[in-house]
Amino acid sequence: MGQIEEFDLFVIGGGSGGVRGSRIAAKHGAKVAIAEEYRYGGTCVIRGCVPKKLLVYAAKFASSFKDSKGYGWTGENTFDWPTLLANKNKEIDRLNAIYARILGEAGVTVLNGRAVLLDKNTVQVGDKTYKAKKILIATGGTPKKMDVPGKELCITSNEALELAELPKSITIVGGGYIGLEFAGIFKGLGAKVTIVHHRDKVLRGFDEDVRDAVMEHARNQGIEFKLETSLKKVDKDGDTFTVHCLDGSSHSAHQVMMTTGRRPHTKDLGLEKAGVKTETNGMIVVDPYSKTSVDHIYALGDCTERPQLTPVAIRDAQAFADTVYGGMDVAVDHTLVPTAVFCKPAVGVVGLSEAQAMERGEIDVYQAKFRPMFHTLSGRDEKILMKLVVMQKTQKIVGFHMVGPDAPELAQAVAIAMKMGATKADFDNTIALHPTTAEELVLMRTKRA
Ligand code: FAD
Repeated sequence: MGQIEEFDLFVIGGGSGGVRGSRIAAKHGAKVAIAEEYRYGGTCVIRGCVPKKLLVYAAKFASSFKDSKGYGWTGENTFDWPTLLANKNKEIDRLNAIYARILGEAGVTVLNGRAVLLDKNTVQVGDKTYKAKKILIATGGTPKKMDVPGKELCITSNEALELAELPKSITIVGGGYIGLEFAGIFKGLGAKVTIVHHRDKVLRGFDEDVRDAVMEHARNQGIEFKLETSLKKVDKDGDTFTVHCLDGSSHSAHQVMMTTGRRPHTKDLGLEKAGVKTETNGMIVVDPYSKTSVDHIYALGDCTERPQLTPVAIRDAQAFADTVYGGMDVAVDHTLVPTAVFCKPAVGVVGLSEAQAMERGEIDVYQAKFRPMFHTLSGRDEKILMKLVVMQKTQKIVGFHMVGPDAPELAQAVAIAMKMGATKADFDNTIALHPTTAEELVLMRTKRA
């Protein structure tokens, strides 16, 4: 047997967090190896943010073509799913190659295969064993299916991005952000969409007004909801599925997609052998520096309890590498992380919901619901919701909520102001940019009753 190769850092998982962590650690001079069991780029690039957003763009054309009529455009347009998928895959392949290349260029040893921990300093990939002074676990998450008869017939977001054909109808089980985004995609591309959700409203954890607005828009687009019930079982007959719900109802669909949460990719990883503590749900317990219960083993991204977003994984990975190998002391502040739901129209959020803010003290709410100028000629009856939540005592803006086109773009900019501690007076003192939707941000003067 040859000598076992030893690294300063061994990174498990080549997604958003793992790639950034290994690249920056190598830049700081560490000898680094990374292992990836599927494709470099991880969930975000291969099966998440990027392919999803490309499909969101594709779906948006349907309403744009309709809206264009009022602006004098004429003509019919048709849609071809295989063309979209082929172009999407080409872009994902391009990004995947870039990820693998930049790791190599940074001097990182790039391994392909599943890595498991044999003990707290030893990692196995295939039939090879490696020693590591430090280990970074960035294995991300994976879709979690409901345990019901017929679950094997159901797809998840992984398969939804790879379907050979666009389904004529699809039932989406789960009313979280991934469910809502795919509902918008499939509806926009022409499928009949039904959302089955066990609560009375979708998007749990979001501001109540946002939840109401999203459901109103979805209904107006023809998305159907079966609420306060859940999936009992799924049968298949030929190319159609029958979806049976707990309330006794059933309906048919050409695809059934479960968007019923994600679980950390930590099963059978050897965490117990290394002594790494997890929560009961498998999430790895970490301190503000991403350190686990074992002094030289770190974890970040979707396999921890942190917000499950790409920029969070990337920022934590950068902080890890800068702290451990760059002589800096960086612990990431996870407050005021902007977030979006790319449904139609989109949601952009920063900070606290009205209900969360009320738990902290007296608040003022400024809220506007208006028809954007664009829809004066398109004729579409679609209103934008914009809402600011302000702490009465400090006048600081603690919550921004918007449902409307470009809401995610605005949320990113508003997050900067909120991070700097902007007050309502700061917004009021800013001159509007006319004619825009965003000007409403600095024009809301009347407190909501
Ligand atoms: P990942 O990117 O999941 O990377 C983990 C990698 O580890 C994977 O490539 C996996 O194959 C590999 N791996 C796992 N176990 C092993 C092992 N034992 N050995 C070797 N390799 C292993 N976030 C946003 O910010 N914006 C969005 O719009 C957005 N949309 C999303 C849409 C969907 C449908 C999904 C599913 C997610 C979305 N996310 C979005 C979330 C985002 O993708 C994740 O937060 C992000 O990818 C987390 O990065 P990570 O490095 O923790 O894990």
